[in-house]
Amino acid sequence: MRVTVADGGDAPSDKACGEGILPEGIAAVERLGVALDWSAGRACRGIRFIKGDAAAQAEFGGSAGLGMRRIELHRQLIRAAENSGAVILRRTVVTGIAENLVSASGGNFAADWIIGADGFRSLVRDWAGLESRKSRVRFAFRQHFACAPWTDCVEVHWAEKAHCT
Ligand SMILES: Cc1cc2nc3c(=O)[nH]c(=O)nc-3n(C[C@H](O)[C@H](O)[C@H](O)COP(=O)(O)OP(=O)(O)OC[C@H]3O[C@@H](n4cnc5c(N)ncnc54)[C@H](O)[C@@H]3O)c2cc1C
Repeated sequence: MRVTVADGGDAPSDKACGEGILPEGIAAVERLGVALDWSAGRACRGIRFIKGDAAAQAEFGGSAGLGMRRIELHRQLIRAAENSGAVILRRTVVTGIAENLVSASGGNFAADWIIGADGFRSLVRDWAGLESRKSRVRFAFRQHFACAPWTDCVEVHWAEKAHCT
């Protein structure tokens, strides 16, 4: 199959994210035939939830998870896609679909198969007449710190006033 990916944004792109891939996610990526470069991230063996003095923790068991900058993961996935022959169209907004046709800012594209992978508020899902998922607005902030890791677990910290209603 010839594959064309139209992304309205830039690729690779960054966004607020915890940037952790669980072992199931790693296995899914491997099933796609993508060999991630782990040296660009950090392996993690479990997850720990912390609130004040209380903590609950569990190991993934078996294989490790991976913490990796989202933009780096995207970079590696794009490289793998392009190496397998996919054409990535950047800053190309899809504006509609019809039977065997995708309209985008780059023109019209004939397509035997159309995959809508346009996120949480998917327009493709609406255009295809599938059940619409009206989601709430969510807010997230993200900050990176240049310091040595103090743990090989993902840490989730619960705090007062750290949720919105
Ligand atoms: C704060 C936060 C932390 C998270 N932490 C983690 C984590 O640690 N680990 C984890 O696995 N998940 C995490 N997630 C969830 C993860 O970010 C999402 O599940 C994931 O990004 C969904 O991927 P997606 O490809 O479906 O959608 P998206 O990543 O949203 O990608 C959708 C793409 O579609 C493109 N697009 C949209 N509309 C159009 C259009 N009309 N035309 C062309 N292109 C279009 C966009 O440009 C974008 O590139 C987190 C989410 C949040 C909000």
